[in-house]
This record gives sequence, structure tokens and C-alpha cells, in this order.
Amino acid sequence: MSDNNTNEPSHFIRHIINADLENGKNESRVHTRFPPEPNGYLHIGHAKSICLNFGIANEYQGGLCNLRFDDTNPEKEDTEYTDAIQADVKWLGFDWEDRLFYASDYFEQLYEYAVTLIKDGKAYVDHLNAEQIREYRGTLTEPGKDSPYRDRSVEENLELFTKMRAGEFEEGECLLRAKIDMASPNINMRDPAIYRIRKVEHHRTGDTWSIYPMYDFTHCISDALEGITHSLCTLEFEDHRPLYDWFLDQLPVEHHPQQIEFARLNLNYTVTSKRKLNELVTKGYVEGWDDPRMPTIIGMRRRGFTPESIRDFCERIGITKSDTTIDVGVLENCVREDLDKTTRRVLGVLNPLKVVIENYPEDETEWLDAPYHPNDESMGSRQLPFSKVIYVEQDDFMEDPPKKFFRLGPGREVRLRYAYFITCQEVIKNEAGDVIELRCTYDPETKGGNAPDGRKVKGTIHWVSEAHALKTEVRLYDRLFNDPKPDSKQHEADWTSFLNPDSLERRDSALLEPSLKDAKAEERFQFERLGYFCVDSKDSEDNKPVFNRTVTLRDSWAKMNK
Ligand code: ATP
Ligand code: MG
Repeated sequence: MSDNNTNEPSHFIRHIINADLENGKNESRVHTRFPPEPNGYLHIGHAKSICLNFGIANEYQGGLCNLRFDDTNPEKEDTEYTDAIQADVKWLGFDWEDRLFYASDYFEQLYEYAVTLIKDGKAYVDHLNAEQIREYRGTLTEPGKDSPYRDRSVEENLELFTKMRAGEFEEGECLLRAKIDMASPNINMRDPAIYRIRKVEHHRTGDTWSIYPMYDFTHCISDALEGITHSLCTLEFEDHRPLYDWFLDQLPVEHHPQQIEFARLNLNYTVTSKRKLNELVTKGYVEGWDDPRMPTIIGMRRRGFTPESIRDFCERIGITKSDTTIDVGVLENCVREDLDKTTRRVLGVLNPLKVVIENYPEDETEWLDAPYHPNDESMGSRQLPFSKVIYVEQDDFMEDPPKKFFRLGPGREVRLRYAYFITCQEVIKNEAGDVIELRCTYDPETKGGNAPDGRKVKGTIHWVSEAHALKTEVRLYDRLFNDPKPDSKQHEADWTSFLNPDSLERRDSALLEPSLKDAKAEERFQFERLGYFCVDSKDSEDNKPVFNRTVTLRDSWAKMNK
């Protein structure tokens, strides 16, 4: 079923919004936000949230979506991350227009609201230490106990909170707590912290503050101040919703957004926790946040994923209330489908094997017409140089081939893509017995790949002319982890022990067709028979692009599992 005027399948959040619009709730506005914490780079899980929040805003007439940095943890946050996050959201194809906000913009207002709670007898300064607070909190089965500081007078609390702000207490000496219910069955309601002392610089407010508001307090108020109508978040916040509502019910805010939870995206063979991704970077398991093996937006971008394919993936997996793990093959299929339509086909050899065509003239070069796409003429064509010495893929030759091997073997004939039929006449080996060269003959009558006498060959292989080839580095990637759930709690071992040692393979003497010398950073191609490749944006040089394999042509893992 489909709502609105899109063809997308519907989900429960669209249903809620449709009902709200029908009932005229929120003056019939739809206003969402994407609220990242700037303590790392965005990953594929965030893409789901971005596509949902910005997608909803785009779908509804007049809908808006804010980008808001939830920057209340100064220790871990940095402008490197705020810049990267903005670039990622834009690259994914979304626009917050003039609505870029920071929770830190509201620090003064948040402070005022905390004072309001104190004045209303709904917040107090507590001097229990962290360990005592834990003890007093109780457990899931036992109620908590009131702190001995819980009944301080409003005046005393105001004075202490003013001192907290002035920096007169040390970190951990005291904190401001909401006064709710220490016996609540929901532990989040047992007098949660509102402000804690942190004597650290904030990347935006500098040393103005030595107290910082907690997430639960900040988030609902930020939503309310921005006039958010539907505050979409992941399921782990479900138990925090009563607190979200409690704060807004106590305070004189004009809007009371509705928090709606959905299941987070989990992808197998990788990790999607910023803390773990950060560890991979800082411990040197990968080359950085933008390592093409990382499930980060910037890593996937460098690997060659398109924004369209990521958006398509996020739509296909849907929005539900139950946690599931999506097979990374689904993501790979989305990118394959997109690249199949949009990339030019070119020839390149990753593991070159030399072929000398004995009956071809010594100094001749022929330029053969080759279309860039088999069924999209608008992509045009290029001229491929053909000459006496070419290279083919080592895998396309077997000295003692089985019957069903339709490629090169002694005495066997194959078609060279866009060129001629060749027949292998002689195999040349080095002293160690490795095949280092093939001597072949070509049939001049088969130019373009067909024999006038109607004789057929079953195999067509790719090739590159030696004299014209671009010699460069090509990188092949495999899954970052060997285990489908590297961070699962069932594993006793350290999650990093499941890293795949073969996740990166460099081919430093790949030979590619000469048209690729001009390929620009992030340009994408299909190397025929080998997969989709993208020009690396970091390590490429002028006339020497380095290529990253985005994905193979077919899902080799699915085949293996069969
Ligand atoms: P992480 O667990 O990776 O540290 P986070 O939730 O702490 O992620 P935030 O920067 O707070 O990271 O996330 C911004 C938004 O993205 C939040 O609304 C969060 O719910 C959402 N989000 C984060 N991870 C996922 C995920 N795996 N699937 C869907 N949404 C996610
Ligand atoms: Mg978070």
C-alpha cells in the first residue's frame, strides 16, 4: 500500500503522520530533524535515519527537516565531525536549507528551564557520589531510595545550582537531578540527572560553561524549541519517552513533539557503532574513517557507492518496530543495480598474462570501435587500441582445462572482446614452471568478434594492449569481518579478532585501457567481467587514477553459501 503521491511502500510512521494531518494536529505541519552527535563520522545506520527524516519532510507538502548537532558531550566532540556530517548529508542528497542548529545554541535557555524546574520544586542538587547514586537507584526488580539531599529547599537548590554554573564545585561533587519518582518501575524516571559538572572546553562555547545538560533534558527541549512535530528516534529510546514527555509537561514550552521509535539498522559482517568504528580507526585496523571497507558514508562514497543506491537501500529495508539484521548483500545489490544502469563498460586486466599474437604485424595499431554500454547508446563509444602484444587475465588461461572451461588453453580458440578470435599455439614458462607468456595467432577475418564462416567460440575474454595500457593500482575489497555478527554478545572473544585479514587486496600492476588515464576522482566504471570500480579520491594522481572495486558483478558470497 502506498500513501501520499509516492510509489514507496508505506510504514507505521507515515500512517501516524497521515492521521495527524487528517486531525489537523500541529497546525497540519510536518517537521522532523536529524540529530547526530558530532563525535564521529556517520555510518549506514545514520543513513537510514537521514533518509527517514529528510525523506518524510520531502514527501509532505511544506514538510521541513532540521539538521541539529546534539553537542552536549564536549570531551568527544569536534568540528572535524560537524563538517564531515554536513558533507555526508548533502552528498546523500538532502538539504536542511537554513535550518542548521546546535543544541549548544540553547545552553542558556536550557539553564533557564532547569531553574524553572528548581523553582517549581521539580529538581534538586544532589551531593551523592556516582557510586552512591547507583546504589540508591535500585534495580529492575527493586525500587530505588530517595537521596538524603532530595528535600533541600528551593532557595538552597537555586544557590547551589548557581554555584555549579560558576564553577565552584569540582567534577562529580554534585549534580542537578529531576525530582520524579525513585520507585518508578521505569528506571529512567528515578530522578534522572539534568546537569553535570564538566570542566572541559566545548568546541563551540569554549570555556563559557562548566556544567553541561544531559541528553534526555536537552533533546526534548531542542525539539520543542524548533517546533518539531515528529521526533523520530531508534528503539533504545522507547523507555526514555516518559521522561521526554515529563520534561515538556513541566516546562512552559509552546510545542510538545511526539517521539516515535523505530528499529535501528544492523548490517551483518560489519559494526555500526561509532565507538567501535572509532576504535578501528585509532588502533589502525583501517586507514581512517574514509577507508573504503568502513560502513561509514564517507567510506562507502570512496568505495564507489552512489547516493541513489544508499537511498534505495534505506527505502527497501523499510521502517519497522522490530530489530533485525540486514544482509550486507542487500546493500550490495542496490549498488549493483544502480551502477549497471549508470556506468560505462571498460576493459582492464588485474592479473596480467602476456600474449604475443605471432601473425599480427609488428608495429601496427588498430583502433577498434567499442560502445561504452551494451544497451544505452547515449553513453557513446571509444576507440580501443589493438596491437601485437596484449595482456589477458591469468585466470582466463588453463594449461589443462576441463571441458567446460571456455577460455584459453593450448590449441583453444576464444574471442577477444570487440576484437578478434585468437588461438593459443604455444605456452611459455619460466624456470620455476610458471606460465609467463602465451603465443597465439589471430584470424584477421574475425574483426569485431564474428567469423564469416559462422564458426562459434564459446568464450569471450577481456584484454589490454601492452603499448597503450595504463599501468596502475587497483584495490579489491572483501568484507571487513569474517563473522556475520562480530559485535554480538554471544561472542566471548574480542570483536576485533573477527576482522578479515584479507579484506584488502592490492593489485599494483593492473593494466587498464588507455581511455581511463583521464578518469577523475569518484568516477565510476564497470570493468567488464570484473565488477564496478571507482577512482580513489585520495591516492589518485593526474593521469594515474587508482581504482577501488565497489562491488563484484555478482554476489559471490550467495553462490558460496549454496
Ligand atoms: P552510535 O550507536 O553509532 O554511536 P548514536 O545513536 O549514538 O550512534 P547519534 O549521532 O546520536 O549516534 O545518531 C543520530 C541519529 O541517528 C539518532 O537519531 C539515532 O537514533 C540515529 N541512528 C544511529 N544509529 C542508527 C542505526 N543503526 N539505525 C538507524 N538510526 C540510527
Ligand atoms: Mg546518540
